[in-house]
Amino acid sequence: MKLVFATNNKHKLSELQNMLGNEFQVLSLADINCQDEIPEDHETLEENASQKAHYIYEKFGLNCFADDTGLEVASLNNEPGVYSARYAGSSRSSEDNMKKVLQRLDGVEEREARFRTVISLIIDGKETQFEGIVNGDILLEEKGKDGFGYDPIFQPKSYDVSFAEMSINEKNKISHRGNAVRKLVEYLLK
Ligand code: IMP
Repeated sequence: MKLVFATNNKHKLSELQNMLGNEFQVLSLADINCQDEIPEDHETLEENASQKAHYIYEKFGLNCFADDTGLEVASLNNEPGVYSARYAGSSRSSEDNMKKVLQRLDGVEEREARFRTVISLIIDGKETQFEGIVNGDILLEEKGKDGFGYDPIFQPKSYDVSFAEMSINEKNKISHRGNAVRKLVEYLLK
């Protein structure tokens, strides 16, 4: 079966294709010639993932899925959440986004946070959602050079290294996206 993943992120695509094996062929937006700026203008991860998947299904009539992820910091009323990519402004700078989180948590002892990913899958018009979560804490300062986004300031529970100090494989085993993707794969292969 062909399945469109509403992304052009090569890392996400190959991760998925690896996990799904030969039964499914995962296509990117570029593969289906979609250069559109797909809207994601809602206030929850669930609505945004759904909006992106519906956009593809309705325009191209292809089975597909889309994901949306946010960092939710308990002491900040779950901010930046759905605004994670552009928390510090439209430049979408990870450095500025992390700085803003660290500034807002300055002097705050309660630093619990989680990453949450929602995947919306549409097969023959039927939508199913999958959620993946990883719990952790926001560090006092950046630690580690790998990864992307908020990785240097996020330390998963029961680890003493940040996401930016882990190998990709190590991170995938416990991460929000890894957990959501495993649920998707289990559903597709059952
Ligand atoms: P997206 O929905 O996957 O594009 O993620 C939205 C934003 O959340 C990204 O721009 C990053 O700032 C942040 N983010 C998502 N996944 C991760 C992750 O695994 N580590 C760190 N930051 C992430």
